[in-house]
Amino acid sequence: PLVLGIESSCDETGVALVRGRELLAHEVASSVEQHVRFGGVVPEVASRAHLQAMVPTLQRACASADVDLAQIDGVCVTAGPGLMGALVVGLSAAKAIAMALDKPLYGLNHLVGHVAVDLLDHGALPERFGALLVSGGHTSLLVVDDITSALTEVGATIDDAAGEAYDKVARLLGMGYPGGPVIDAAAAGGDPRAIAFPRGLTSARDLERHRFDFSFSGLKTAVSRWVETRRLEGGDVPVADVAASFQEAVADVLTAKAMDMCAHHGLDTLVLGGGVAANSRLRGLLAERADAAGVTVRRPRPGLCTDNGAMMAALGAEVIRRGHRPSSLEIGATPGLPVGTVLV
Ligand code: ATP
Ligand code: MG
Ligand code: FE
Repeated sequence: PLVLGIESSCDETGVALVRGRELLAHEVASSVEQHVRFGGVVPEVASRAHLQAMVPTLQRACASADVDLAQIDGVCVTAGPGLMGALVVGLSAAKAIAMALDKPLYGLNHLVGHVAVDLLDHGALPERFGALLVSGGHTSLLVVDDITSALTEVGATIDDAAGEAYDKVARLLGMGYPGGPVIDAAAAGGDPRAIAFPRGLTSARDLERHRFDFSFSGLKTAVSRWVETRRLEGGDVPVADVAASFQEAVADVLTAKAMDMCAHHGLDTLVLGGGVAANSRLRGLLAERADAAGVTVRRPRPGLCTDNGAMMAALGAEVIRRGHRPSSLEIGATPGLPVGTVLV
């Protein structure tokens, strides 16, 4: 099928065209610069930016794929989770296109899209696989039996998401927003063994109840204390070492638990997804450990890890291929959509 994908759950307006498993076009307009001075996404600002960017981004995608909207087989759009006002813009655009051109509408789960997008880079997904979803708002371990209908969350963060931890640590280091890319870059010049930061929920006692869960708020506090102490002592803060050591703690615990899930649930493939999946150390350490464990690891190119329309088109193409019924034109945006609900 030829599908149009539209994403607007946070601060990226994404539009893409996918035919089968081939990515024909993928355009993203981000309002991130408008949020920098607030240190985080401002929902009202994001909604307005989506309104301004939606039609031009759609036009750019169609032009670059040389596709006329009349040719598409379906409109696939993020229905949730995300910011209500932001979601509504994409959903309204998708409904308008579906209605005007009499095409089926598919309201889809953004988080599942973060996992499905890998099929554009590495082909059809296997029958059964594990997924490590690491984004700005979510951090989960999933067992996937069918990407269009059967995902089981076996673990999740009990406090901050991994991306949120990156953003908070970058802020306390005065490095700007969003934190992921700046910490990733700073860490390249630092020593990951310089400071021993805590790995949340890895003690024998925690593992009993939280074997596949994560916690990053203690890590964030540990970084904050360490930096504060250093400042009180009048010393310079070795930003690169702090960044590298923090990044190592995050990558270590994410990869260790992902590998443990694969062993425990008999999974021989692990798909990485979400904005934090762009992280260089996470990608490297995961490949290393998966290789040692005999697990095939699939990592979408970094440009498809952060929010985009291709993830919705990829998931939508799969949903259509499986013959699922389209969504009603009456569906609403669902800010708290759970990861188990793929299609609304
Ligand atoms: P969700 O997908 O949970 O709804 P979101 O869509 O806002 O949240 P994403 O766009 O998937 O989040 O990811 C954004 C997050 O990814 C931010 O927290 C950002 O700091 C982080 N991130 C982006 N690039 C990197 C990187 N290279 N290293 C670490 N984190 C990164
Ligand atoms: Mg974003
Ligand atoms: Fe996302």
